[in-house]
Amino acid sequence: MSSSDERFSVTVLGLGPMGRALAGAFLDAGVRTTVWNRTPGKEGDLGARGAVLAASAEEAVAASPLTVICLVNYDATDSVLRQPAVADALKGRTVVNLSADVPERARDTGRWAAEHGIGYLDGAIMTPTPSIGTPAGVFLHSGPEALYGEHRRVLDALGGVHTHLGEDVGRAAAYDIALLDIFWTSMTGYVHALAVARAEGISARELAPFAQGIGAILPPLFEEWAGDVDGGSYSGEGNPLTSAVSTMTHVVHAAEAHGIDASVMRAAEALALRAVDRGFGADGFTRVTQVLDRPWQARP
Ligand code: NDP
Repeated sequence: MSSSDERFSVTVLGLGPMGRALAGAFLDAGVRTTVWNRTPGKEGDLGARGAVLAASAEEAVAASPLTVICLVNYDATDSVLRQPAVADALKGRTVVNLSADVPERARDTGRWAAEHGIGYLDGAIMTPTPSIGTPAGVFLHSGPEALYGEHRRVLDALGGVHTHLGEDVGRAAAYDIALLDIFWTSMTGYVHALAVARAEGISARELAPFAQGIGAILPPLFEEWAGDVDGGSYSGEGNPLTSAVSTMTHVVHAAEAHGIDASVMRAAEALALRAVDRGFGADGFTRVTQVLDRPWQARP
């Protein structure tokens, strides 16, 4: 990739751990890279590696046809992007916003960008900083497909797997939220299990190989349950909800007997019981997807 070719230059706004990793990967791939961060002095060795350090956000975005944003959330993004001088400098250029937030914020920023003549793509990074610039990185993108095609080559310089999910600019954030939902509820289960195990005299090290065994059950279930949910069968064959609730109750009792907060498992148990109360006891755990309405919106 020729660094003298304007098409292969990029600006990175935000030099937290992820922004620095993105800028470093662009530099390693030979992309001319301009960087800016609200608080100066966060660039580490990026300057020594060839990055141009811009004095202001408007100077930074004016340096490249494509700006990649990686800030903590959309409040931060808006506070930079929507400054009149920055919006003016971005006119006719493209932004790829890789900051995390909720889908509606992405759509709102997409609408704002369209009103200001700025090309806008949204995205999400699904893997940690060490994966950036390697085949292990996972990037989700959404927004106008033609715009994505235009900038794909520069984005590919980040390495990893890039997937364009569709024209709805909020779609990448929607996938991100769903996947974070899986990650954080699973990890909450894990730390809770470690506390219960410790109270029973089992160390985390002793439990870990068995925890891996339980974890390995999940990937095939994701596939199997996807068919169950999309097909509306909610099959309870082999493990009906009535039986699942009983094992959840055991976890609640064991944890609380040790004085351990079991509120997460109690919440899971309550959802399963709600499905049983509505007459779905013979169905599988996937039926819970249909009883997740909030209590004040609950059907009779
Ligand atoms: P942070 O999420 O802590 O974000 C730090 C960046 O946000 C810094 O550049 C900081 O600037 C900037 N910032 C915060 N508030 C403001 C504001 N009001 N105005 C302007 N800039 C602001 O660090 P990361 O780099 O780790 O994450 C960036 C994004 O990447 C996040 O959305 C995160 O969810 C996502 N991500 C991160 C991963 C990781 O492994 N780190 C993995 C996947 C996604 P300043 O230095 O001035 O405070």
